[in-house]
This record gives sequence, structure tokens and C-alpha cells, in this order.
Amino acid sequence: TSFAHFSFDEQLMHQIRKSEYTQPTPIQCQGVPIAMSGRDMIGIAKTGSGKTAAFIWPMLVHIMDQKELEPGEGPIAVIVCPTRELCQQIHAECKRFGKAYSLRSVAVYGGGSMWEQAKALQEGAEIVVCTPGRLIDHVKKKATSLQRVTYLVFDEADRMFDMGFEYQVRSIASHVRPDRQTLLFSATFRKKIERLARDILVDPIRVVQ
Ligand code: AMP
Repeated sequence: TSFAHFSFDEQLMHQIRKSEYTQPTPIQCQGVPIAMSGRDMIGIAKTGSGKTAAFIWPMLVHIMDQKELEPGEGPIAVIVCPTRELCQQIHAECKRFGKAYSLRSVAVYGGGSMWEQAKALQEGAEIVVCTPGRLIDHVKKKATSLQRVTYLVFDEADRMFDMGFEYQVRSIASHVRPDRQTLLFSATFRKKIERLARDILVDPIRVVQ
């Protein structure tokens, strides 16, 4: 598979060319067409597999479609991950590729300034990258709303469970409208993750790195 198979438009292809990636990684070859089709997906993949771009590229296409269908406020895509470092990394990739369409991304994570994050959320962004507890704090304080979210990603779900975030992960899933598309990434597929997938995904396709 080459990048041409994904039928991305010229703006996004331009950003991809700038990254000097020569070809899609296996998780991208398998995952991108599934995510672009609108189906829910379970990706069993580790860091280094290229999984981030596998959910970001289809997300950008989704947002551009959804923005026209449903103009308004609040993020269209939310990416939930376990740590501040991962949050910042994913946010950087969202900004890099989101440039193709002038989309805005905000990162909110535990340990950062609540006030500064709330200000950034209120200025508006189509993409929010977050750690679970901090997103819930901002929603409770009405710094942002999840009502327009139709693309929801949980990255490194097994690590979030290990860190004790199961309740928060489930709470976020239950506060996002049911007609969303959900993607769940995990390095392992243990019983607890399997159960989560059964509870928050609809008829998912499983992809293994
Ligand atoms: P990830 O697994 O998403 O954390 O990505 C690991 C690293 O691979 C990141 O530095 C990406 O920028 C890079 N990467 C993502 N996709 C590709 C690709 N198709 N070819 C080469 N590098 C890539």
C-alpha cells in the first residue's frame, strides 16, 4: 500500500510529504481505510507502530465533513490518553497534520494550568487531546462541552487502566453521543480491555499491528 491508496486530498498529502514518510506502516495500511469508513475499531499496537497518524489522518477527514454538517461550538474529535507526555506528543502531531485544514488542537492534562487550559478551550478548537481526569474537570466546570463530539479515540487503553483511569474512561464514553465513531488502541488485549471494547464500541473491526 502507498499513501495514494488512502485518497487523501492534496492539502493532507502535502503535510504527509513534508514529514518525509516513504510509505504507510502496517497499522496505517490496515487501520486508515477502516477508520475512514466510519467503523469503530480496536487497534492492537505499540508506540513506534505509527498508530498516532493512523487515527489522526482519518480524524481530519471526519472533522472536515462534520464541520459542514454541524457548525457550532466545542470539539468534534477528542483523543484520550494516559499521560502528559503522550498528550503533548499527540497534540503536536494534530497540529502538524491539522495545518492542512487550519484545524485547532488543544491539549489538556493533569499537572498543567487549569486556567490556561480553560482559556484555550474557550477560544475554540476542533480537536481536544486530554488525559481522562482533566477532561472531566473541564467539562464539569463548563470550560468545554462534549455535545458535538463524533470522533472519540482512547489511546493506550491498557496503560490508562493500569493507572486507575477505568472509571474516568467509561465516564467519558458515556457522556459522548452514541452516534459517534470510537477507536480504541491498546498494546495488549486483556480481559478488561475486551470488556471495555464490548461496552463502548459498536461492531468494531480489530486490527493487529
Ligand atoms: P507512533 O507509533 O504513532 O508513536 O509513531 C512513532 C513514530 O513514527 C513517530 O515519530 C511518527 O512521526 C513516525 N511515523 C508515523 N508514521 C510513519 C510512516 N508512515 N513512516 C515513517 N515514520 C512514521
